[in-house]
Amino acid sequence: MDIKNLIRDVPNFPIEGIVFKDITTLLKDKEGFNEALAQLHNFSKNKGITKVIGIESRGFIFGGALAEKLGAGFVPIRKPGKLPAPSVSESYILEYGTDIIEIHEDAIEKDDIVLLHDDLLATGGTMEAACKLVEKLGAQVAQISFLIELSFLNGREKLKKYDVHSLVKYDSE
Ligand code: AMP
Repeated sequence: MDIKNLIRDVPNFPIEGIVFKDITTLLKDKEGFNEALAQLHNFSKNKGITKVIGIESRGFIFGGALAEKLGAGFVPIRKPGKLPAPSVSESYILEYGTDIIEIHEDAIEKDDIVLLHDDLLATGGTMEAACKLVEKLGAQVAQISFLIELSFLNGREKLKKYDVHSLVKYDSE
C-alpha cells in the first residue's frame, strides 16, 4: 500500500504559496491508518520507549495510538496557555516572528526513554524546540518520528544529533 496516495495536497492553505499536506484523507481510511501506524510502530518497537510525546495538534493522533502500541505513556506538547498545570516553555523562530510550545513540568522523569512524534517535518523548528523542552526536564530524546518529511526544506539538519525517522518523503513541492 502506498501511504503517499492517501495524503492530499491542498494548495494555498493556510496562506497563499503553502501546499498543505492534509492527512485527514489517510486517517479516514481504515487500512491506511493501520498501515501507517504499523510502520511507525516498526521504527520504535524494542527501544524501551516509556513516553511518547505528541506535538499539538496532529501529532496527538498517531502519537496516542503509538503510545498504546508501545505500552508507553502519552504526553502532549501544546501551544501557549492550553496546559492547566505548571509548565515549561520554549520559543522558536518562524519565517515571520516567533512561536512558543509548552509541556507540563511533571510530564516526564529523568529516566524516561522518550519518543517525540509529529505529523510533518518542514523546517524542523518545532521539533528542535520540542527536543529542548525534553532536555530542560532532564530526560533524553531516544527517537523522533514523523509521518511526512518535506526533505527539500532540510529540517533534518536541525535534528542531526537525533535518531530521526519519517514514513513518507517529498523531495519537491
Ligand atoms: P516546522 O517547524 O517548520 O518543521 O513545521 C512543522 C509543523 O508545522 C508541524 O507541526 C506541521 O503540522 C506544520 N506544517 C508545516 N508545513 C506544513 C505543510 N506543508 N502541511 C501541513 N502541515 C505543515
